[in-house]
Amino acid sequence: MYSLEVLSQDKQRISVKLKNVPLLYANALRRICLNGVPVFAIDTVDIIENSSVLADEGIAHRLGMIPLTTDLSRFVEPSKCECHSETGCSNCRVMLMIDSGGDNDTTRTVMSSEITSEDDTVKPVSDKIPIVQIAPGQRIKIEAYARLGRGTEHARWNASNIATLIPTEKEDEHVLTVETTGALSPEHILVDGVNELSKRLEEFKMLLAELK
Ligand SMILES: [Zn+2]
Repeated sequence: MYSLEVLSQDKQRISVKLKNVPLLYANALRRICLNGVPVFAIDTVDIIENSSVLADEGIAHRLGMIPLTTDLSRFVEPSKCECHSETGCSNCRVMLMIDSGGDNDTTRTVMSSEITSEDDTVKPVSDKIPIVQIAPGQRIKIEAYARLGRGTEHARWNASNIATLIPTEKEDEHVLTVETTGALSPEHILVDGVNELSKRLEEFKMLLAELK
């Protein structure tokens, strides 16, 4: 029989022992935990003002790589949203803002703590992520839009920093370890990963049935 036993678990990481799970499925689950579970990330950026030395694209890239807390019960992926709109709606998109102000008298680093979100559930997982340095008189003012996506599309939507599958000394036994980016809890990634895997297998079965 298949079995799944939690070996250790904390806020960052979960390790589970998979017994008698075919390696193919265990590997598929590992990959889905890494980049197949949807999380929020910034993907559209409107630069209103940027007098820092970092180019607009550089700032947009940094904002895109900031992990954002994700509540999957409240939001849907744009491709599955009823709004069918290019610009999105409150069910599939969240606006975030950052304004450094222009009155600093020393050079300082603008941090992720200065990002405000129109939705409390979607915000940087850490306040301590540096975005850009600004000198006196320089300013950045940005409107950014975050949406759910998957790491298969771009690494900014990876749910995990690391997902490893390591064989134990016993036959047909592997340890799967998942380390979250902070967007979701590690156990949430695992549960969603299992659901996603079974959904894909189900879709595959239906496809096969149609062929017959
Ligand atoms: Zn929508």
